[in-house]
Amino acid sequence: MNNAPLFDAPIAVLRHALDTKAISSVELATLFLDRIEALDSALNAFITVERERTLAEARAADARIARRESGPLTGIPLAHKDVFCAEGMLATCASKMLSNFTSPYDAHVVALLKKAGAVNLGKTNMDEFAMGSSSETSYFGPVVNPWKPGHVSGGSSGGSAAAVAARLAPIATGTDTGGSVRQPASFCGVTGIKPTYGLVSRYGLIAYASSLDQGGAFGASAEDCASLLAAMTGFDARDSTSLDRPAEDYAAALAAAPVDAARPLANLTIGLPREFFGDGMSGDIRAAVDAALAQYRALGATTREVDLPNARLAIPAYYVIAMAEASSNLSRFDGVRYGRRAAEFTDLADMYRKSRGEGFGAEVQRRILIGTYVLSHGYYDAYYLQAQKLRRLIAGDFRRAFGACDLIASPTSPVTAWPLGAMRNDPVQMYLADIYTTPVNLAGLPGISHPCGFDASGLPVGLQLIGDYFSETRLLTAAHRFQQATDWHLRRPALAA
Ligand code: GLN
Repeated sequence: MNNAPLFDAPIAVLRHALDTKAISSVELATLFLDRIEALDSALNAFITVERERTLAEARAADARIARRESGPLTGIPLAHKDVFCAEGMLATCASKMLSNFTSPYDAHVVALLKKAGAVNLGKTNMDEFAMGSSSETSYFGPVVNPWKPGHVSGGSSGGSAAAVAARLAPIATGTDTGGSVRQPASFCGVTGIKPTYGLVSRYGLIAYASSLDQGGAFGASAEDCASLLAAMTGFDARDSTSLDRPAEDYAAALAAAPVDAARPLANLTIGLPREFFGDGMSGDIRAAVDAALAQYRALGATTREVDLPNARLAIPAYYVIAMAEASSNLSRFDGVRYGRRAAEFTDLADMYRKSRGEGFGAEVQRRILIGTYVLSHGYYDAYYLQAQKLRRLIAGDFRRAFGACDLIASPTSPVTAWPLGAMRNDPVQMYLADIYTTPVNLAGLPGISHPCGFDASGLPVGLQLIGDYFSETRLLTAAHRFQQATDWHLRRPALAA
């Protein structure tokens, strides 16, 4: 069926191996735990790994498999971004503020995956409170790109992306507020999908910017992402923006034979936004993206130009809205209601000041300050309200564009993974690198990033496909057909070979 080593096997192969008793879930979990132990000191992809807890979950999965009660993910190991709460485990959000916080409950996503019998390998490293594009702001140190030591993994879900790329976990959860699933997927050469806003419950997901935050899935392929995403979605009354929709069987849609095998994407029109294909993208990325689009055409798809005239304003709009919401969401971490309290202080105000001053890193503090500023009297209308108007205009651009195409393609990022520390003193430069991903969150649309080549230095390049609301099946199917015809998603960094 597949000759890859088991740690590099697709979920379908792992499923088969578990069901035929070729391997037990305990053995499979041990294989990945041993890889984490051997390799993660070089990557720093994980914050928390608890071998005994993982093995206990694997034993329970084996018992279910023995009783023939297993579902698609029963006994399959996975990793969770440390933004998700899991009962009895640390949930740090990569912040000193929560470095000693053990969650008393499961996030909805964690509960769903537990119920499905998936085995939790541990919690992955990330940017502090999911604020960043490089996973360098973590209190626990930066995540290293598995393809090139000394380079960032992308962010904020860099630990999950690096773990899947290095095959320390077959699949992993992430969250995407402005690109945090798609961009690290692109930097690490894996596939990542952020669904339509509201499809994945935010209950138990430590909030950054609530109107933008959305859970997503990482895998080596669109097929593996489909298996994970299907298990993560579902209505949850505890999240007021959770959508009550019938579940979709993504895996079945991918497995269905196309009408025209030679041209499986014959009915697909891909829009290419003029504004995204102008300047500002590196030559290597342009070449990889152009080749990927040629491949899509070879599979039968049609490409045509579309316009997203307001997309260039996505960065300022996104950063105003995200920081405004962050300043509100993070006010709860005051050393009283939530978060670590400073050891020494003189009075109440000093206690708040010291707890927040010591608990939050520089980037988080910067965002709370800017967010508070744009919400303050006199500036609200000038910044926050303007940003909300832009948000509406950007969503309108997409609505019009989807009148002329089924999916929209772009690079996931205008650059490949930069050297660690390269943007330390220039946060705005880092914000600008989110140009292709943030418009998607502002509109609440689904997007996927899949590998489509490498730059001259051997770092992965990702192609982003954006869909209309609830077009997850179409996005996953398009990426799957691309992956059936290409092998970019099968390339591995040396340490996972
Ligand atoms: N890079 C963006 C930011 O810093 C997106 C982060 C995210 O999606 N969590 O806000």
